[in-house]
Amino acid sequence: MGTKILLIEDEEKIARFVELELTYEGYAVTKAYDGRRGVELALSGHFDLVILDIMLPGINGMEVLRRIRREDASMPVIILTARDAVSDKVSGLDMGADDYVTKPFAIEELLARIRTALRKKAVAEKEEILSAQTVTLDAKRRTVTVSGTPVELTKREFDLLYWLLKNKGIVVTRESLLENVWESDFDGGTNTVDVYIRFLRQKIDEAFGVKLIHTVRGVGYVIKDEKHSLHNP
Ligand code: CA
Repeated sequence: MGTKILLIEDEEKIARFVELELTYEGYAVTKAYDGRRGVELALSGHFDLVILDIMLPGINGMEVLRRIRREDASMPVIILTARDAVSDKVSGLDMGADDYVTKPFAIEELLARIRTALRKKAVAEKEEILSAQTVTLDAKRRTVTVSGTPVELTKREFDLLYWLLKNKGIVVTRESLLENVWESDFDGGTNTVDVYIRFLRQKIDEAFGVKLIHTVRGVGYVIKDEKHSLHNP
């Protein structure tokens, strides 16, 4: 059975073009022309990936995304934004979109983003438990616990923690975090990474009195397993 893609886009010309191209690539495409129908279909459990236009009549793309994420944390969602709508990209990614493509886009670009998102999903569905000190992350169930107590993380915080744990003991640069956790040519700059590191520290290091995420000044961040490194930088 082929990969099923839901396309939520009110502009029929674009929707038909994308449908044609994706079908040609072997994807099964279903179209929704408004947000309400889009949410309904996205949560039906029949789709592997959602392509979501932000400018929609009725409930807009951002609200559609919020409603999808409320029910389904792992559905890959790629948003379509206008070229100059930088705030749409930022808030879309913050709200849990996996990636975005700027209109007008080359179909190859969209296809590449789709392949990446589906690959990430396949990886996420494999059993993978990562841990350091008292922190345990279950990649498949997307849960994090500290000494058995669940910690609520946003999608971005979770992905960031995942990547740091995956590279436990290795200093990860801000640039490489941006590349691997944010992926797109995200233009928020490397201080975005620092902001999310701060969120993670509040929820884990500070909340549980552990020293998990270490700053390596001028380079990046590292998660260490040993608790005795508490007084090291
Ligand atoms: Ca539109």
